[in-house]
Amino acid sequence: MTQCARCGKHICLEETFPGLPAGCPMEGEDRLYEESLEEYKKPEIRNIAVNAAITEAAGYGVWTRLEEIAEFAWRAHFNKLGMAFCMGLSKEAVRIEKILRKLGFEVESAVCKTGRRPKELLGMRNEDKVRPGTFEVICNPIAQAKLLNRVKTDLNIVIGLCVDMTPCSSSIPRPGDRACRQRPGAGP
Ligand code: SF4
Repeated sequence: MTQCARCGKHICLEETFPGLPAGCPMEGEDRLYEESLEEYKKPEIRNIAVNAAITEAAGYGVWTRLEEIAEFAWRAHFNKLGMAFCMGLSKEAVRIEKILRKLGFEVESAVCKTGRRPKELLGMRNEDKVRPGTFEVICNPIAQAKLLNRVKTDLNIVIGLCVDMTPCSSSIPRPGDRACRQRPGAGP
C-alpha cells in the first residue's frame, strides 16, 4: 500500500518523527529505499540527481522551467537536447527550440504525430476518432522516444504530451514552475 495522496502529515520531510501515518509506503520498505539510494550512487544517475537538486535550490521560485532546464543541462554537461512535443504546442516548440539553440545547445525534436500511422492500424473504430469520418493518425510517443534515442540526445524534454502518451502519464503538465505560478507554459 502506498497512499501519499491521503497523507496530510508529510513526515518524510522531517528529520525526526514520532510514527508513520496509515498507508505510508515507508512502513517496512527500508530495503526498497536502500536499493533506490544505491541507484542514485551510480555516476550517471548521481550526475542527474545532484545537479537537479542544485538547480532547484539555485533558482527556486525565480527561474522559469525553461531556465531551469538550461541551467540543469549546463551543470550536468548535457549538450544535445531532445524535444518530444505535442502537435498542439507546435508554436511553443518553435520558440523553445530557438531559445535553446541560442543558448548554445544542439537540439533535436520529434512531434507526436510523426510516422502518420492511421488510427485504424490499432483497430480503432471510426466513432472513436476526435472527428469521425476523417483521416486521423495515432500519437506516437514510442517513435518519438526511438527517434531521439537514435540521434543520441543527452536529455529529452517532454512538451505537452497528452493523456494517452505514456503508461505513467502526467495529469498536470510537469508542475513546479514556481516562477510562473505552476504554469510552465506561461511567462513569469
Ligand atoms: S511518505 Fe509517508 S509521510 Fe510522506 S507523504 Fe507519503 S504517507 Fe505521508
